[in-house]
Amino acid sequence: MTYNYMNYSSKIAFPSGVVDYIFLPKDGLKKSSVEELAVSYDKQHIVIITDDHIAALYEPLFKGYKTLVVPALESAKDLHTIGTLCRQLLDLEAGRNTLLIGVGGGVVTDVTGFVASVYMRGIAFGFVPTTLLGMVDAAIGGKNGVNLGLTKNLIGTITQPKFILYDTGFLQTLPNVEWSNGFAEIIKCASIFDAGLFDELAAQNISFYKHDDHALLALIEKSAAWKNNTVIADEKETGVRKLLNFGHTAAHAIENMYELPHGKAVAIGMVIACMVSEEVAGLSAADTERLKKLLQQYHLPVSLSINAAKAMEILRMDKKRKDDLIDYIVLERIGHGAIRSLPFNVVEKALEAYASHN
Ligand code: ADP
Ligand code: ZN
Repeated sequence: MTYNYMNYSSKIAFPSGVVDYIFLPKDGLKKSSVEELAVSYDKQHIVIITDDHIAALYEPLFKGYKTLVVPALESAKDLHTIGTLCRQLLDLEAGRNTLLIGVGGGVVTDVTGFVASVYMRGIAFGFVPTTLLGMVDAAIGGKNGVNLGLTKNLIGTITQPKFILYDTGFLQTLPNVEWSNGFAEIIKCASIFDAGLFDELAAQNISFYKHDDHALLALIEKSAAWKNNTVIADEKETGVRKLLNFGHTAAHAIENMYELPHGKAVAIGMVIACMVSEEVAGLSAADTERLKKLLQQYHLPVSLSINAAKAMEILRMDKKRKDDLIDYIVLERIGHGAIRSLPFNVVEKALEAYASHN
């Protein structure tokens, strides 16, 4: 396979499959075409899945390709969309030799990976993440989930894509709020793994990364590498991969209830997790303040008025709950996350305390 505009590519071996990480120079994809992705696939065997927003913004990219379009909404990440896409694939006579390519943010890559994992018991797929969040988090790791009602990612598969193609040129059209959402996952990664990265982020801001391609690409690669290494060590999330859920327990309880973007929900979730961490893991109040300050620096919320009782109802259905215990990710200090099996009521109390202060 040759990519005319390729800067470099590296193959990463996960337990369930090898993923080709392809880094194009900025706008490489727009200058060439999706055809460059075609590995050994003919154009007629490629089906692109994207959302209505990206389809309109990048129309020329999709010209001549069978393209299926989903609504650009978190609520489209459900079983109804999966059923519709499978039916559309059948109508297109997609078969075992079809390559599905998801071009978009987390919604698109999740549904693409899910559909590809179940259609005809599994066909090949690849991702072109177009959001910062997708590039550092959602497209990586093989988890492809959809929501059931208000419960996030309850139904899904762990299947690795054949490739993930990076072209930071897409980020030029990304709205500010989506930049912040991406930074929520990068700040999460720094908080649990990398105090040096946390300091770098504290010294910069969104505008700096927007205008410095080199620094942006280095940041994306570093965050992606942390996620890759964690998933290589524990693809099925029986241990260390759980650390990536820092901030996500409370986030999943409030995200769909308040229709918050994922990054904002994770920001609030990290603040709640810091409160728990101060209580059970010796996190200093000063570290909690540093994290709050960093979140605000990247235009992320640290306070929200929430209905604790409702949030707890959703929390009780959390996948990480085992009877009266829950695997909860705490910070011992900035750059050092840890997994704690906590009584469920410790988390409930933190949610209640947060709700009464905001
Ligand atoms: P994520 O889960 O990665 O945050 P979503 O799939 O929820 O992403 O997408 C968030 C929003 O950003 C959607 O409205 C989507 O259409 C839009 N979007 C995605 N990529 C781009 C881009 N490169 N430019 C502009 N808007 C984009
Ligand atoms: Zn997340």
